[in-house]
Amino acid sequence: MISSPEAEELFASDDLIGIGMQADAIRRRIHPEGVVSYIIDRNINYTNFCTEYCSFCAFYRPMGHEEGYILSKETIFDKIRETLDLGGTGVLMQGGLHPGLKIEWYEDLLSSIKKKFGSKIHLHCFSAPEITNIAEVSGLSLRDTIARLRDSGLDSIPGGGAEILDDEVRYRISRLKCATAEWIEVHRTAHALGLRTTATMMFGCGETIRHRVNHLEIVRRIQEDTGGFTAFIPWFFQRENTSLGRFVKEEATAVEYLRTLAISRIYLENIDNIQSSWVTPGLKTCQLGLRFGGNDVGSIMIEENVVSAAGAHHRATEEELRRLIRDAGFVPKQRDTLYRTYFLN
Ligand code: SF4
Repeated sequence: MISSPEAEELFASDDLIGIGMQADAIRRRIHPEGVVSYIIDRNINYTNFCTEYCSFCAFYRPMGHEEGYILSKETIFDKIRETLDLGGTGVLMQGGLHPGLKIEWYEDLLSSIKKKFGSKIHLHCFSAPEITNIAEVSGLSLRDTIARLRDSGLDSIPGGGAEILDDEVRYRISRLKCATAEWIEVHRTAHALGLRTTATMMFGCGETIRHRVNHLEIVRRIQEDTGGFTAFIPWFFQRENTSLGRFVKEEATAVEYLRTLAISRIYLENIDNIQSSWVTPGLKTCQLGLRFGGNDVGSIMIEENVVSAAGAHHRATEEELRRLIRDAGFVPKQRDTLYRTYFLN
């Protein structure tokens, strides 16, 4: 695998096509069957109340705000029912960091969903900052928190809340949210307890290339030790309605996205799946990403509230995603949250 200085050199290079070809060769070696996968699922944001005030976030509302909400179990059940009716296999459930919701609330929610829908719905829930918050407000260790959530029905953990895994950057954009070491600890502990997780990176928020490479290095090292990541998902900061958007005036371009995607594929050879996203870069850039290392286009996303609050308004149907994949020269296949395709096609 390439070294960090080599990755920095790739970031500095203007040979976009060369970098893409290098990433494409690795993608072909890991996925020689020429399949590109997607998932049908939905994001459920159970609350938008949050105490962290991240400067890149347009989704949260402070405690007591009139637009704040906590979804009822019935509303969540309805959303899951609709997801299943549309051929979905899972939900990505995430929310703000609520100081009044202790572990019993989450345990009750997970076990009620499993009681009602059984194994038909995969529960990919609660990013590292939420888990550290649940542990904190419940007076529990991270290990006990994750084990109790798993025993109540949690199937896997999303990589959200990573942004850039470097405290210099985090201090500037999300001072109150979990530090790099806590994000790492949540994922290492989850892997040790038998849960798979994903890793993400939100770039273009004023970080340097060195910060990005440090992030990739942390993810690669965890994967070397645990093998617990199913996928890596890089995406870029959306400015609209955010306070950080007043300082970071320009969003990442398509070239910057494709370069970062390709270098992620090259650097993280030990992670099977790299997602070419359409939610922030748009469908056409996502399609190009399939020749820059991506082997998955993510979700058709029946519902998404977080990045759309910050100005990402792209939409896609299953047929559009399948056409986009076919037209790039691949076979489209529906997958589940753990990137398994065989029983769905
Ligand atoms: S990104 Fe998450 S933790 Fe930060 S303010 Fe938004 S909801 Fe809260």
